[in-house]
Amino acid sequence: MTDSLQAWLRRLQSAFATTAELLAPTSAACLLCGKPRTEARSPGSSNQSKLTPQLRKSLCGGCLSAIPWLTRIACPRCGRSIACEDCIRRPQRAFVCNRSAVSYNPAMRAMLALYKYRGNERLAPLLGDMLLPALEAMTCEVAQQLQDSATSGTFPKSVGKIADYWDAITYVPISPERASERGFNQAEQLASHLAHRYRLPLMNLLIRSRHSEKQSFKTRSERMRDTRTLFDVNARELRTLLNSATKAQPSRKTTRILLIDDIYTTGSTAEACSQELHRLAQCPLEIYILTWARS
Ligand SMILES: [Zn+2]
Ligand SMILES: [Zn+2]
Repeated sequence: MTDSLQAWLRRLQSAFATTAELLAPTSAACLLCGKPRTEARSPGSSNQSKLTPQLRKSLCGGCLSAIPWLTRIACPRCGRSIACEDCIRRPQRAFVCNRSAVSYNPAMRAMLALYKYRGNERLAPLLGDMLLPALEAMTCEVAQQLQDSATSGTFPKSVGKIADYWDAITYVPISPERASERGFNQAEQLASHLAHRYRLPLMNLLIRSRHSEKQSFKTRSERMRDTRTLFDVNARELRTLLNSATKAQPSRKTTRILLIDDIYTTGSTAEACSQELHRLAQCPLEIYILTWARS
């Protein structure tokens, strides 16, 4: 009762905040630093194209230019920008690869905390928009692998094309305890944002089988051990996906799933979810991980 009341109050607060913003559109403050938002300074030509109208109208020039976009990928498996010992140590993964939008630096940690722990849900569409370039680039990688003949290296920007490459988009679930405490699942909100933008089928493929302590308080080996039994597959939803994928793309030999989470740290969450999906599917799956930040 208390939990649902808190969640309801949070929704009401957020509705009031949105209304206040709509009534005073010209005095918008930066959603991150709170300073009056002036016309965005150019954050450097290479990253200019990543800034959607939503990002430009919500953040100040200083905050926009401080976004640590992950453009250089040094590890093709986990998408890290520096050489990666984890992937050398564990070359066998149940997922194809991870790509992330940004590096998880102190500024991004603060942004995620505002959204995830302080319940500022107005940041959800911003985090969602920040994932768009990473999803487009990852889809481009998939397209290039499929068509070796593709020489241009640029993916057609048409929205419909992105959807052609993915049979479903899904997300890492949170436990019911965490859901009632927070009022929302950040990974689900991000997945829903992308699904809406690119018309991808959003599916609830995974279930949190038990509650775990907050991951951030654990050591690397504790995390790896604990995540192994944390997820179950929503068998009915998976069956629906496999049936519809076969009908939609009869010539395709695998079903391609996009799995969304907020942060990629050791990859143990992505691995546990992917292993369960493979185990239940009993047919070829390609699971790609897309995360907002690479820690
Ligand atoms: Zn700012
Ligand atoms: Zn790696």
